[in-house]
Formats: sequence, C-alpha cells, structure tokens
Amino acid sequence: MTDHYDVIVIGGGPGGYVAAIRAAQLGLKTACIDKSRNDKGKGSPGGTCLNVGCIPSKALLDSSEHYEMAREGLAAHGVGVDKVSLDLAAMLARKDKIVGELTGGVTMLFKANKIDYYNGHGTLHAERKVSVRDADGKTSAEISADHVILASGSAPMELPSVPFDHDTIVDSTGALAFEAVPEKLGVIGAGVIGLELGSVWRRLGSQVVVLEALDTFLAAADDHVSRDAARQFKKQGLDIRLGARVTGAKTGKKGCVVSYESGGKAGEITVDKLIVAIGRRPYTDDLFDADLGIVTDKRGFIEIDEHNRTGMENVYAVGDAVTGPMLAHKASEEGVAVAEGIAGHPGHVDFNTVPWVIYTHPEIAWVGKTERELKDEGIPVATGQFSFAATGRAKAMNEAGGFVKVVAHAETDRILGVHIVGPRASELIAEAVLAMEFHASAEDLARTIHAHPTLSEATHEAALSVAKRAIHKAN
Ligand code: FAD
Ligand code: NAD
Repeated sequence: MTDHYDVIVIGGGPGGYVAAIRAAQLGLKTACIDKSRNDKGKGSPGGTCLNVGCIPSKALLDSSEHYEMAREGLAAHGVGVDKVSLDLAAMLARKDKIVGELTGGVTMLFKANKIDYYNGHGTLHAERKVSVRDADGKTSAEISADHVILASGSAPMELPSVPFDHDTIVDSTGALAFEAVPEKLGVIGAGVIGLELGSVWRRLGSQVVVLEALDTFLAAADDHVSRDAARQFKKQGLDIRLGARVTGAKTGKKGCVVSYESGGKAGEITVDKLIVAIGRRPYTDDLFDADLGIVTDKRGFIEIDEHNRTGMENVYAVGDAVTGPMLAHKASEEGVAVAEGIAGHPGHVDFNTVPWVIYTHPEIAWVGKTERELKDEGIPVATGQFSFAATGRAKAMNEAGGFVKVVAHAETDRILGVHIVGPRASELIAEAVLAMEFHASAEDLARTIHAHPTLSEATHEAALSVAKRAIHKAN
C-alpha cells in the first residue's frame, strides 16, 4: 500500500528539514526524503550546510584561527607559547565529529516530531506520487501527498576549462578534507567560499593565490567594507589577483599549472592543489518528471511565484534550488513560510532583511542595501560610521581593525542597511537585522542602551554618527 502524507519534503537540508519540522509541528503528517549518506553508508540529513558546507567550514575556520592565534596572536597579550604544532588529522576529525553530531541531531528531531525519514533519492511524479530509490537504483518506497516541497539544494559549478579531478583540482567539499597542508594553494573565485577556505589553508601554512575574474573585490558588499577587508586580507598574506580570468589548468608531476588572462596579458601560477569556487548551481537532477508543469529557468532554478508555488498544483520549492541568496537561513525561512502556508497560517520571508556573513578574519557582515545601491536608486541617504579602534572592548581583544557603518534614509531616518567589517561581525549583525525588521530609525538604535565595554558599542556609535552626534569620535 502507498503511504499517503499531508506533506512530503524532498531534500533534507536547512530548507527541507526545517520545512518538515514546521509542518509536523502544525499537525501535518510529514515525510522527508534525503539522499545524503555518510562514509559509513548511514543516512546523513542536514544537506550541504551540515555535511559539506556551513558547519564543517566554520569548524575549520575556528580551528585554524586558534592555530594562527597561538602562533602569532598571543604574544600581543603577553602570552608566550614555546612551540605550536599542527595535528591536521585531529583538526579534521573534530570537524567530522561535529558534522556527525549535528546530522544525527536532525535524525533525532525527525523522530521527535514523528516525521518519516526516507534515505534515498526522491522523484516526483503525476498526482504528487513520489518514488524513493536506494543508492543502487532500486525503488525502496512509493508514497504520495497532498502537498510536496522541493528542497533539493545546489551543487558546485565546474569550470569547463578546469574540470574537477577531485584530487588536485577540487570543489569546496574536497577543500574541507585535504590530508596535508598544500604548500601552494590556488583558489579560483574570490567569493564567499574562496575567501573562507582560502583563509583556512593560509592560516594552516599554505601560500594562497586567489584568482578572481572581476575587477572589483566583493562587489556585493559596501565599498568601504570591501576596501577595508581587501587591505586586511593583503596584510595577512592572502594574494588576491583581481581581473584574472582563468583559462585552463594542467596537472603534471610538478603540480598544477593554472593559466589566466589579466589586463590582456597571460599569467600562470603553479600550485599543489586548486580549489574551484566560482559559484553553485541549483541541483534538480531527476527530481521531477518532465510533464508536470514545473519549469526551470535558463540557469536551472525552479520557477516559483511569491509564495514559492511551482507550476504544479500544491508543489512548492525552497532554498538553493530557487532564486535568491544561496544561504542556509534563507532556505530555512522559506521552508517555514511554505509549511505555515500549507497549514493555513500564511507566512512570508522579508528578503530585505536577510543577513550576509563572510566568516573570514576580520568577519564581514551586512544586512539591507549598500550606500551605492541606494544612491543608484536615487534614495537620499545619511550614513554614520564608527571604527572598532575607538572602542575599549576591541582594543582589549587586540582586534581593533574594521568598523560599523549605518546607512539611513536622509529624510525619514529609517535604517536601510548596516555594514560591518571586524571582530564578531557575524554576531553583531543580528541587532541590525532586528532593528530593520522592526523598521527602526537610526535614532531608535542610537537611543538603545548598549552595554559597556562591548563591540556592540560600535553599532551604537555608528547610529549616533548618522546624526553627527557620536560621542567617542570627532563628528
Ligand atoms: P541543501 O543544503 O543543498 O540540501 C539539499 C539536500 O537535498 C541535500 O542533502 C541533497 O543531497 C538532497 N537531495 C537533492 N536532491 C534530492 C532528491 N531528488 N532526493 C532526495 N534528496 C535529494 N550558507 C550560510 O548561510 N552560511 C554559511 O556559513 C554557509 N557556508 C557554506 C560553506 C560551503 C563550503 C558551502 C558549499 C555552502 C555554504 N553555505 C552557507 C550555503 C548553504 O550550505 C546553502 O545555502 C544551504 O545548504 C541550502 O539549503 P537547501 O536546503 O536549499 O539545500
Ligand atoms: P560566489 O558567487 O560567492 O563567488 C564566486 C566568485 O568566482 C565570483 O566572485 C566570480 O566573479 C568568480 N568567478 C567566476 N568565474 C570565474 C573564473 N572563470 N575565473 C575567476 N573567477 C571566477 O560563489 P562561491 O564562493 O562558490 O559560493 C557559492 C555560494 O555558497 C555563495 O553564493 C553563497 O551563497 C554560499 N556560501 C555562503 C557562505 C556564507 O554565508 N558564509 C559560505 C560559503 C558559501
């Protein structure tokens, strides 16, 4: 007999597993199908994010930051360390343990919420029937539902002239598991992955060259932020070459020779490992039959309306498989909104307040629009900026680089964007997201009491600075 559900979710990443949990919380009989398995062949829900994305990369970012701190940063605090050594195997094992704990946690949450979890590949057919296939291709289940949520995520893009060999030329997944620190590491793409994973291996001892096709560094970020970050990365020894379009790579006995063009001239670097991080593509392979009315656009994203509805009745799509920022929290919020909509409690996602974070050192975080974007739209803005160097806490931490910038509407004072480069920017941005969610003005933030001494005082002073009344700087 075919099991029938209120909701079937295909894909168990932050979009899918969160949608399944929310649907179950709202009393809907729910199943979640996810095909990921760990190296022991056990189901490993959590998607890209938990298995090979956000979590393992942050585990390595933290570990490598401790290593660099012990080697170079502690002396400034008067702490002497005789000999710092690297146990890469232990560092990688710690990362894998965290992944195991968190993916195991999702399996437990499925059980606690009475969600049926199928480990296999799901394909949607007519009448919202869904088949599940094992790794060997055998059909292990056939189920159906009133509503189906597609949350199949994304996969790394390959550069045709630099195909992955998954040994020397790797994607982000390969770059999370190098068995030894490469002496020379090349990275194609100075985007989020290139900067984060490039930072990990630089801290662990690699000489890193990042080749970026665009002439502008971090074009999506605020101009002041990207300029400041570029300066700090350069100081750390990250060799970022802008306007460098990679044309090919050849692997031989002496390593991998990467060719690129820059300003009409040909360039070349020789590296031991090469990470290709030029973006991700929506992953929808064998996800649904061709004749169901579900359409993908020319880049492969599933087309949806403003309520995440696809062209097939009662079938929705969320997360990396649809347009919008490829971020875990965006995927989860869409999953929640869709589950609530199915249960009759219409939810929505405010795309103006999706925070972006790059977990480098310094961290980079922003929410809302940049000053340039707003000016291009003809919106009058007033800005306030405050450096961490003028805050006691950042000084005490020996982390005084960077700043907070608040961009407000020049007439209404409503906050339209907040941009941070500096210590704990990933945590500091939450206050700005909340302020924007509540349509706060810069004055609201300026009148909010911030504990002293904290890094958040930089946000407070930046908000004060919009009205030229910051206390700890000359206005
Ligand atoms: P995914 O997480 O990709 O999950 C989709 C799941 O569905 C996968 O398990 C897949 O195997 C499964 N699946 C696909 N098709 C089928 C099918 N037909 N049947 C069954 N199962 C299927 N984002 C952040 O917000 N913060 C970060 O710090 C961050 N760091 C990242 C670091 C790296 C190295 C990478 C690669 C990504 C990072 N991201 C980060 C992006 C984040 O991982 C994604 O935005 C997020 O995982 C998208 O969630 P999703 O649920 O849409 O898809
Ligand atoms: P990205 O879009 O952030 O950056 C890719 C970069 O590669 C771009 O700057 C692009 O100009 C460059 N590029 C493209 N083709 C090139 C070529 N031929 N030669 C040189 N440069 C080239 O993509 P990504 O870094 O691969 O990350 C993919 C997605 O994963 C991101 O969009 C992000 O949403 C998500 N992610 C998020 C986080 C986070 O939130 N901290 C971390 C990692 C990944």
